[in-house]
Amino acid sequence: MAKNKPSDYRPETLAVAFGYDPQDGMGAAKPPIFMTSTFVYPSAQHAKDVHEAYFDGTGPLVGETNHIYSRLGHPGLDFLETRLAAIDGAEAAVAYCSGMAAHSSIALSYVRSGDSVLHGRPIYGGVDVLYNTIMAQFGAHAQSYLDGTDEAGVRAAAQAAMAKGPLKLIIAETPANPTAAIVDLDLMVRIADEVGEKQGHRPLVVVDNTLLGPFAQRPIEHGVDLCLTSLTKHCGGHSDLLAGGISGRKELIEPLRLLRTTWGNHLDPYTSWLVLRSLESVAVRTERAMSNARAVATYLRDHPKVAGVTFLGFLPEGSRQRAVYDRQCKAAGSTFSFHLHGGEAEAFRMLDKLQLMKVAVSLGGSETLICHSASTTHYAVPREQRLAGGITDGTMRLSVGLEHVDDLIADLAQALEAV
Ligand SMILES: *Cc1c(COP(=O)(O)O)cnc(C)c1O
Repeated sequence: MAKNKPSDYRPETLAVAFGYDPQDGMGAAKPPIFMTSTFVYPSAQHAKDVHEAYFDGTGPLVGETNHIYSRLGHPGLDFLETRLAAIDGAEAAVAYCSGMAAHSSIALSYVRSGDSVLHGRPIYGGVDVLYNTIMAQFGAHAQSYLDGTDEAGVRAAAQAAMAKGPLKLIIAETPANPTAAIVDLDLMVRIADEVGEKQGHRPLVVVDNTLLGPFAQRPIEHGVDLCLTSLTKHCGGHSDLLAGGISGRKELIEPLRLLRTTWGNHLDPYTSWLVLRSLESVAVRTERAMSNARAVATYLRDHPKVAGVTFLGFLPEGSRQRAVYDRQCKAAGSTFSFHLHGGEAEAFRMLDKLQLMKVAVSLGGSETLICHSASTTHYAVPREQRLAGGITDGTMRLSVGLEHVDDLIADLAQALEAV
């Protein structure tokens, strides 16, 4: 199958075996782990040819998979990146040692002093710090839009970004966490085209697809330039590793791959193998987790001690957000928040009563995780800002896993009695 084209198959099929040919692994049905830091050549000339092919893209070995040193690339990365690109429907992919390493690499590769970046709010805390604190220290400017479905609002924000400096990146995290705020990817592509006409070079549209993962939302099919996924979440799927990936056109991915050699933030052979293995089951795992989440969200919505549930699947019919959801998402995800009547005391009483669900941050693992947003994921955000973003003192974030849904609901039911 490794010899076939990805376009011959659907993503679920590609996820199972694409990217690894048993001939590359002494006939092993499954890919070996190449635990090596460096690679040996049969001759001095061969060593030179490998380096020429890697650095200049010329010479007799162009197109061969020869390696130099594992920071520059290794077989496990090749297998993983080929499979990830195929699943995402992209030409190429690069993998990193975390989702944030992937975000930082895009920033360092595509943004220069004086440039501006447009991003949505709320956005993952690490990405917020990256653009508003760290890249700001290098002289780059950040501008945010608040409603990623409001065409006039996003256009005005893009205008404000361009007034600060050349707009290089339009970043969308959708749905955003924990508010389920949705960003219209077709709108982002349209705005990038408009900005390109105005300023003479088109900004790249970067989508963080972590929350829904590669099967429930397919950004590349909407024409975005780079699709970023924290592979730590659904793709790794067992809360036992950190990794990140970026998919897109070859001309955008190859510079990232070359620079990764210098940043030194590649994914190691063992973790590459773990992610490759987990990709085989990500479609079925997320399908189950997402159907469990819908049942749990429905249970909580009707519970007298719950003030409300923020779940993508409950977006009101007829709303602008719902229209984008119907066009763009195949499922509502497995992470959502619910809001208890009361505050921290009630929330903590409930959390301390849970028997099955684990109190932890992160999402997309096989086990259900729950956390009190104000005192954990949003600890560093001032209370007024939290409230403005829909996070009350009674807000809990739930990442629903693969347990039997009746056991999950029973655990919540007995814990809610303590509230
Ligand atoms: C977790 C997460 C990240 C960061 O990924 P790491 O693998 O933890 O570095 C980025 N974006 C979103 C939306 C996330 O949930």
